[in-house]
Amino acid sequence: MTTTQTLDASPAALEIHDVHKWYGSHRVLDGVDLTVRPGEVTVILGPSGSGKSTLLRVINHLEKPEIGYVSVNGELVGVRRQGDRLKELSERAILSQRSRIGFVFQNFNLFPHLTVLDNVAAAPVATGKLTKPEAQELARELLGRVGLGEKTGAYPRQLSGGQQQRVAIARALALRPGIILFDEPTSALDPELVGEVLAVIKDLATSGTTLVIVTHEIGFAREVADRVVFIDGGKVIEQGPPAQVLDHPRHERTRDFLSKVL
Ligand code: ADP
Ligand code: MG
Repeated sequence: MTTTQTLDASPAALEIHDVHKWYGSHRVLDGVDLTVRPGEVTVILGPSGSGKSTLLRVINHLEKPEIGYVSVNGELVGVRRQGDRLKELSERAILSQRSRIGFVFQNFNLFPHLTVLDNVAAAPVATGKLTKPEAQELARELLGRVGLGEKTGAYPRQLSGGQQQRVAIARALALRPGIILFDEPTSALDPELVGEVLAVIKDLATSGTTLVIVTHEIGFAREVADRVVFIDGGKVIEQGPPAQVLDHPRHERTRDFLSKVL
């Protein structure tokens, strides 16, 4: 079908190929392969210590894999195996790639000494993409989108955790990234604040932003994910549409994990 051909021809938004990562003698990622198409929403599930955060850090080049590579929009960055030799790519290529990947952390990581507006406006100015007035205009628009148009002058400490995380999402959007990675974005929140953050992520998902989300929110995964990937022991154990992985898991380890979090 035409649609399929078109999809197959477009470069993957993200491709992870045979990624291995060790910390000392501890193997944390053990040959991970993953392809994410433009506009796709991928939810990564897995027990604590299974390598989910490490995988996101490898995608964002905060960690280097010992073997394997990561490619974003068809551009290879990272480390690749060439026979037995590993070729490292330039620091500059890595930085350029990183500026196209948004990262939202569990603990928000906002700049405490900057207002909400400047938290969002800072990166486009620092990277020379926008002037300060342009960045502030964009920041106002993005803060409106996450429902915080009234809070532009506040400091992070004056906001609830849910509001801080929404600022962090606006900040990630300010660099107009091709893909946004979320590492347990609601795990640090009081239960009554989880919904407002998931609603913002859902809005991004339905507007066609490419997202990779590590979360234990199974209901949310079922609702927004195009694909669910279950990781255990640094390996992808199974992946597929949410209805398959969540409701008809093929592997015992997936069933065992789901019985504990559901
Ligand atoms: P998850 O996010 O799935 O809970 P992580 O990717 O954080 O898992 O961690 C995977 C494993 O790697 C854990 O055993 C953790 O202790 C270990 N690990 C993570 N980061 C480091 C590090 N910087 N140095 C040594 N070990 C680490
Ligand atoms: Mg983690």
